[in-house]
Amino acid sequence: MKRILIVEDSKTLAKLLAKKIESSLEYRVDVAYNFSEAKLFLKKYTYFVALLDINLPDAPNGEIVDYVLNKGIRAIVLSGNIDKNFRKKMLEKNIIDYVNKGGVNDINYIIHTLSRLEKNQNHKVLVVDDSMVFRNQMKTMLENLFYEVITVAHGEEALGMLNSHLNISMVITDYYMPVMNGLELTNEIRKNYNKTELCIIAISSNNDEEINALFLKQGANDYIKKPFSKEEFSCRINNSIEALENIQFITNHANRDFLTGLYNRRYFFENMNEYMQDISTSGEKFAIAMLDIDFFKKINDTYGHDVGDRVIIAISEVLRANTNYRDIVARFGGEEFCIVLKNINQYSVPEILEGLRKEVEDFVFVLDEANKIRFTISIGASYHDSSDTLEETINQADMNLYNAKQSGRNQVNFG
Ligand code: GH3
Ligand code: MG
Ligand code: MG
Repeated sequence: MKRILIVEDSKTLAKLLAKKIESSLEYRVDVAYNFSEAKLFLKKYTYFVALLDINLPDAPNGEIVDYVLNKGIRAIVLSGNIDKNFRKKMLEKNIIDYVNKGGVNDINYIIHTLSRLEKNQNHKVLVVDDSMVFRNQMKTMLENLFYEVITVAHGEEALGMLNSHLNISMVITDYYMPVMNGLELTNEIRKNYNKTELCIIAISSNNDEEINALFLKQGANDYIKKPFSKEEFSCRINNSIEALENIQFITNHANRDFLTGLYNRRYFFENMNEYMQDISTSGEKFAIAMLDIDFFKKINDTYGHDVGDRVIIAISEVLRANTNYRDIVARFGGEEFCIVLKNINQYSVPEILEGLRKEVEDFVFVLDEANKIRFTISIGASYHDSSDTLEETINQADMNLYNAKQSGRNQVNFG
């Protein structure tokens, strides 16, 4: 488990913070009440983040900040000191944030920041700027916030990077760049990635009001005017990433079945209607398989509905693990699933489905020592003929499933 170090001489505040962090986030928290105790902890452990009071009995002028930063540990400075110059001096250092302490809101802000930093590790940010100095400055600030950062010097390179790196969450682009300016780049990117997939942040200079509006119209999520403070930069970047996460969370929930996390019927038809359009020009072929657990009612009756649910979850994992990432595995209802094998040759279909049937037959759901549950599935499948509609192919697969059940279950029927 990752560790957080709190260095704070007010015992009440330190303990309150530690308790809050341990109860709402998954960290071990160490508490030091002065600089020398902190040094002992830092000799022993490495930390995800350190929260540092700058007014300690044995280090009254923020001496601990440089000490921690020199160890390569990222720091949030806690302060009751609102002296503007002091705050500015601290923010010039490579700290994550400078926060007030004491109030309930301050503590909530710290918790929120820590959880933000944790999630930032899952996001890649692409920085596009022709100035190396500026590129590196942004890279440092972003890495400080735990983002993974890729930097490039111009738009062409950025487009290439987007194509080769899956899951870049954000592009930060300068406006003035040779060959392709930031606006043109934004325009190009939006041809392939919408706002729910990727955020774009424009960096513009102060006297370009018109450009800023254009950026937003072309699909940038936000812009930051040069010169900007580190705090404004962090807040704007984090806000946009948070909005992206929220949209993706909602989209994901709308597309997935709540029990198994597989795609639901709604997503299945949405995806397939789009796919049918694509293959009408590419000529790609696919097969549809309908699967149903055999005598599932008996599992429910013997072990209860909850165990039945867990069996459905387990079988979903078996199906997911034994199909390609482009295939769609959807839960259509109770214990019935539909799989689309995309880009497949007619002759490989029976072999693949037979493999799937065998995987399920060999699978053992271990409820406890005395109860090892085994079960089988029946599969009906159909190969899509380019003159057939999606519904016709599904109906044929359904009919074949009925035949598989009639002929004794635990088998594949492919017509
Ligand atoms: P067959 O081999 O003919 O498919 O037999 P079966 O018992 O599997 O078929 P049947 O369709 O008669 O029964 C399916 C049962 O699945 C009935 C229903 O109570 C149960 N079921 C449906 N959805 C769920 C669910 O989400 N969780 C659980 N635990 N059971 C479910
Ligand atoms: Mg069944
Ligand atoms: Mg059934």
